[in-house]
Amino acid sequence: MKKLITLAVASALVATVAGCGSKTETAPSTSPAASTSTGAAATAAPAKTEAKKPTIGVAIYKFDDTFMSGVRAAIADAAKDKATVDIVDSQNSQPTQNDKVDLFITKKVNALAINAVDRTAAGVIIDKAKTANVPVVFLNREPLADDMKKWDKVYYVGAKAEQSGTMEGQLLVDYFKAHPEADKNKDGKIQYVMLKGEPGHQDAELRTKFSVQAITDAGLGVEKIAEDTAMWDRVKGQEKMAAFLAANEDKIEAVIANNDDMALGAIEALKAKGYFKEGGKYMPVVGVDATAPALQALGDGTLLGTVLNDAKNQGAATTNVATALANGLVPSKETTGYDVTDGKYIWISYKKITKANMNEAK
Ligand code: BGC
Ligand code: CA
Repeated sequence: MKKLITLAVASALVATVAGCGSKTETAPSTSPAASTSTGAAATAAPAKTEAKKPTIGVAIYKFDDTFMSGVRAAIADAAKDKATVDIVDSQNSQPTQNDKVDLFITKKVNALAINAVDRTAAGVIIDKAKTANVPVVFLNREPLADDMKKWDKVYYVGAKAEQSGTMEGQLLVDYFKAHPEADKNKDGKIQYVMLKGEPGHQDAELRTKFSVQAITDAGLGVEKIAEDTAMWDRVKGQEKMAAFLAANEDKIEAVIANNDDMALGAIEALKAKGYFKEGGKYMPVVGVDATAPALQALGDGTLLGTVLNDAKNQGAATTNVATALANGLVPSKETTGYDVTDGKYIWISYKKITKANMNEAK
């Protein structure tokens, strides 16, 4: 009841204030609750002129991640006039993230948006959210299907990992078909090294698998020279690539990285070995994300290709879905601007990016 009165007060005030200015669509008489309580409210409540925006508690797995920084900015940007977002850093620790979720629930946020540190921990977060009846939208790190089924107010915003892997492989296929000399040992196979993201992350596992499968699907052979995780990280990517080169430089014909940061690290290691100089040695390197530094590298001719991981739309969809849920609406194309698949999933498409179309990723 208290809530109802507060709401009535707020809308009555909005109507009153709006009425003072120019013409308005909000006719005070359309809300019976507002019109009956106007008199009492106007004297009792402090001057508050805006209807209350819902609050969304957002926990990012770690702020120090290039791609997630873009998503984070997009979440805040999309929230501007529809929600208040409280965005926190989980510092790559699941216990820290769980504490942040508890705090959000204590603060009575109206919805949660969670970029899980460990996606298998989503079940625990869903249990907490369900008990408190706070809807939750996961993003970027996909909860297991069984966890997604635990409650109807659980959604996931992300991109199909296999699609990005396939596109990455196709970028290499296109290159090898156009440049027969890239098959240095002329055996009809691409000898590659793989820089993997965090093991267990759907994007790391599926990009690794589907990038290679796209090459064999195109009728080319492949041979793995080395594979290691560099945890999505540029510096680690550089270190791992330096180790691959030290052990097998003469054998490597291509570098596949699960994201751009690791691809850029690999490019640094290659530069240190004399690659990418005018008329000098070349190595095709592909990544995923199309981050700003990656686009720069595409322009420079060091990165062969990448796949746009659409941070802007993933962020906006997260905000819109969480806002709809916070307002008691069922997320749909009408309420969020994005298609909802299987009543729970919002899939944002990937796109192949090379120097030729890099403006589309900017
Ligand atoms: C991105 C990576 C990022 C990871 C974080 C992936 O989709 O491609 O760059 O580090 O998400 O979870
Ligand atoms: Ca070869």
